[in-house]
Amino acid sequence: RADNALQQAKIAGRARTFVDVHSGAQNREMVDALPAGEFVVVYQPIVDLPTGAVIGAEALLRWTHPERGSIPPVEFIPLAEESGFILDLGRWVLQVACQEARDWDFTENPRISVNVSGRQLHDPNFVPDVRRILADTGLPPTRLVLEVTESMLEADAPVALAALETLRAEGVRIAIDDFGTGYSSLSRLDRLPVDILKIDRAFVTTLTPDTGVAPVITAIVALANALGMSTVAEGIEEPFQAAALIAHGCGAGQGWLYGRPGPAAQLAELAAVPPAAVAAECPQLAPAR
Ligand code: C2E
Ligand code: MG
Ligand code: MG
Ligand code: MG
Repeated sequence: RADNALQQAKIAGRARTFVDVHSGAQNREMVDALPAGEFVVVYQPIVDLPTGAVIGAEALLRWTHPERGSIPPVEFIPLAEESGFILDLGRWVLQVACQEARDWDFTENPRISVNVSGRQLHDPNFVPDVRRILADTGLPPTRLVLEVTESMLEADAPVALAALETLRAEGVRIAIDDFGTGYSSLSRLDRLPVDILKIDRAFVTTLTPDTGVAPVITAIVALANALGMSTVAEGIEEPFQAAALIAHGCGAGQGWLYGRPGPAAQLAELAAVPPAAVAAECPQLAPAR
């Protein structure tokens, strides 16, 4: 009977969503999951859009729970931020990603992008941790990109800004993730320690074969150019979206069209999606070559 009760509890547990479950117990489970090897880092290729060549990758966390299977980051990152566990988890991701990326040779100076949470940026150990990880792994700072969100760069976050300024002065690149979904003040953007604007998937999704244009994407690319920043588009699923982004002058991109997040070994094997294949989908937008 005890077995049966356990079985019932397991089924009930599986039916509930992860975040519904009591967060204290969940946090303990998450803390134990790190030494248990249940977290893995997967890598999504980032390509140079005009050539389709892989120029780097974004590290994305996955939690493979022994009973619930794969738990997506949107479900456990907020909890890890709330409890403070994100400090350990974030440091671990950075360590793993930098170590793995050091040996990549699919292109010259491949970049590794790592997502950083606000809690990490406010931790006094963050800058020394990044320096130590770079030194230990031997990854040149110029090959590391830290992805932050607009809300972390607000004027009332001087500690976070100072940390990014310090690392950027040492060669680390800074990207604003999901750009366009927050409330960045344009008057401050040119004074922020930022190199890359990542155009949120929501804008890429608005690109259709009929319209082929998206005013917000035009504006973000123009803004980036004016400020000496580069652009990376997120969530490119269709060739016509890639063609439209190339026509808009967007430099780089990532999405299922080019590759899903997966083991690092796939990065070297991915065949470039040639611009010709992309252009054929949307000839009216293809740049003159
Ligand atoms: P993000 O940084 O904006 O990452 C991009 C998300 O879009 C990833 O979701 C990726 O799998 C997904 N994606 C990429 N291409 C496509 C596409 O073509 N179509 C669609 N529909 N989706 C696409 P994922 O891996 O579930 O991560 C979600 C978010 O969780 C990330 O958004 C990031 O904010 C956060 N996250 C992931 N790993 C970490 C981490 O190590 N640390 C922190 N602090 N946050 C992380
Ligand atoms: Mg990101
Ligand atoms: Mg993003
Ligand atoms: Mg996003």
